[in-house]
Amino acid sequence: MSTSYSYLILKPKKERAVINRHPWIFSGAVAQLPKADDGDIVGVKDASGKLLAYGFFNSNSQIVCRLFEFSDQDLSFDQEYWTGKISRAIKLRQSILNNANTNCFRLLHAEGDFFPGIIADVYDKAVVLQILIKGTEKILPFIKEALIINGLEHIYLKTKTSSQLIENIVEGKGWLNGGMEMPVKVQENSIPFDVDFEKGQKTGFFLDQRENRNLVKSLSKDKKVLNTFSYTGGFSLYALSGGASWVDSVDVSKDAIRACNEMVEESGHKNHAGIVADCFDYLKSMDQSYDLIILDPPAFAKSAKSVPNAARGYKELNLLAFRKIKSGGLLFTFSCSQNVGRELFQKIIFGAAADARRNIRILQHLTQPFDHPVNIYHPEGEYLKGLLLWVE
Ligand code: SAH
Repeated sequence: MSTSYSYLILKPKKERAVINRHPWIFSGAVAQLPKADDGDIVGVKDASGKLLAYGFFNSNSQIVCRLFEFSDQDLSFDQEYWTGKISRAIKLRQSILNNANTNCFRLLHAEGDFFPGIIADVYDKAVVLQILIKGTEKILPFIKEALIINGLEHIYLKTKTSSQLIENIVEGKGWLNGGMEMPVKVQENSIPFDVDFEKGQKTGFFLDQRENRNLVKSLSKDKKVLNTFSYTGGFSLYALSGGASWVDSVDVSKDAIRACNEMVEESGHKNHAGIVADCFDYLKSMDQSYDLIILDPPAFAKSAKSVPNAARGYKELNLLAFRKIKSGGLLFTFSCSQNVGRELFQKIIFGAAADARRNIRILQHLTQPFDHPVNIYHPEGEYLKGLLLWVE
């Protein structure tokens, strides 16, 4: 029996990465393109005609095919297949997540769940989808059905404008099934948050900092804390609940600071200020009274080309913090740029430390939590890296 899929044929000696289950095929590795439309599922064969894998094809992308199944068998990707993939992702979260205290988590982490081109974040009874490629847009009805079968009936679609442009995705924003009022109330490690995924950034909240926020909480007692790039104050609420003497949250977005202030007010804490400002300016002009500083900027390097500029940005930011933090201070510093690896990030921080001429020690390496898993064949999926530093 043969399937109805077309085949992409690799050039001789270009099959190694596919055999090693790397999920991306670059255009340079292709001998013959499939007779398929953009977004179609295609089979991938080596130069001798041996079937290796299946993926989503897009002739417009440098990555012409994103692989989601490695098999030499004729397969058919029906509802059962996609429901199975999503059920396995749910099972992983259920087996590790402490559900009683946390009801928001990432359910689908693209390549990290062997499902390139899709992000899904769960906020209590709702799930927010980001469709990143044409291929996942084409199977959206299967994805929707699979989520409903798994009990997730409130489905909100939030496609990034950049993906719409690059991948020619038509679907935009809105409820695919069962609407809900904004904001949605969730809790993370027992701390309540309001999440507005219609108006908020990304899917509404940054779920990847959950464990690092807990660490901040455990180290905040009686500390004066500065949370830069605070967004809606994830780290701030943890620091306050950990007994910080004062917390300043700084973000350039008025809406983020408004939401942050509202949530702090609801929590009953009075020792907080939300400040709308550029963090570089704030760090330059602030005094030297902070005991604990968090630096969690947006991805400075959106592409490989922008890494040198991004490196300068990270260095400047960290140098400013090193110059201003109190002796015996704790600095949480992060990069979420996929293109800045862990080693490079540490080198940049080393450069800033050397310029600041202070004694600085690494206490802990920080990363993304288990619901943002890294596919071992796709190390690029480890995007969040951080260091907890002791500055004297
Ligand atoms: N730490 C946050 C997530 C940060 S996302 C959390 O735990 O939820 C990055 C944030 O940086 C966004 O809210 C964005 O508005 C803000 N931002 C981007 N550039 C900025 C700048 N130059 N100064 C201040 N904030 C900035």
